Amino acid sequence: MSRSVSTAVVTGAGSGIGRAIAAELGRQDHDIIIVEVDEAAGKESAASIREAGGSARLVSCDISHTDSVREAFEQIGPLDILINNAGLTRDNLAMRLKEEDWQTVLEVNLTSAFRLSRAVLRSMMKARWGRIIGITSIVGVTGNPGQANYAASKAGMIGMSKSLAQEVASRGVTVNCVAPGFIATAMTDVLADEQKEKLNAGIPAGRMGGVDDVASACVYLASNEAAYVTGQTLHVNGGMAMI
Ligand code: NAD
Repeated sequence: MSRSVSTAVVTGAGSGIGRAIAAELGRQDHDIIIVEVDEAAGKESAASIREAGGSARLVSCDISHTDSVREAFEQIGPLDILINNAGLTRDNLAMRLKEEDWQTVLEVNLTSAFRLSRAVLRSMMKARWGRIIGITSIVGVTGNPGQANYAASKAGMIGMSKSLAQEVASRGVTVNCVAPGFIATAMTDVLADEQKEKLNAGIPAGRMGGVDDVASACVYLASNEAAYVTGQTLHVNGGMAMI
C-alpha cells in the first residue's frame, strides 16, 4: 500500500530542526500540522510553508499536558506521519541536577512522545499505513557529561520506538528514530569560532550538520520506499560516532 499526499504532524516545528522537517515535508506535498507551544513561532513556520506553495496550519499545544494533547488530537483527526521532534535540555552535572530538571526533560522529550504516539496509533493501524519518527540524539547512545537527564530521555526514545515498532509492524506502521549529532542551530550560532573549530575537528566530515541533513533523513523514513525499515535509528552525524 502506498500514500502520495498525507497528513504529517511535526511537534516543535516553530524553530530549528522541526521547522526544517516541516518545510521539507511540505515541499513533498504533505499537509503539515505544526504542533507547537510557542504560538508565534509556529504561526511563522506555517506561513512560510504556505508561501512556498505548501499546505500548513498550527495547532497550539503543550505536549507535556495530557489535556492539551487530547484537545489537539481531537482537532487534528487521523494522520499518516508523526514526527516527535519537540525537545529541550536542562543541563547540569548529575550531582547538581535538580529532580525537577530531570522530570521536565523526561516528561517533554520522552513521555510526551509516547503520549502522542499512542494518540495516533489506532487510526494508523486501521489505515494499515503510518510513520512515527522520533528525533533522538547521538548522546542517547554515547552519553554526555552534564546531560544525564537528556541522554536518558533520548536513549528511552530509542527503546520505546523499537518496542512500538514490534507491536505494529504487521499493520503497515513503521516506528524509527533519527539521531542528529552536532547540528548548526541558533543554539550553536553563539559559539566562538575557536569552539566551533574544535568541535569540527572531532567530526570526520569536518563540519557541523545542517537542519536540512536531518530533514532529509526524516523524508526518507516517512516515504513509501522505507516501508520495510522499522525499529531503526538513522544517525546523521558526519561520522562523529559510527554506531
Ligand atoms: P529548538 O529549541 O530550536 O526547537 C524545539 C522546539 O520545540 C521549539 O520551537 C519549542 O517551542 C518546542 N517545544 C519545546 N517544548 C515544547 C512543548 N512542551 N510542547 C510543544 N512544543 C515544545 O531545538 P532544536 O535544536 O531544533 O532541536 C529539535 C530536536 O532535535 C530536539 O528534540 C533536540 O533534542 C534534537 N536534537 C538537536 C540537536 C542539535 O544539535 N540542535 C542535536 C541532537 C538532537
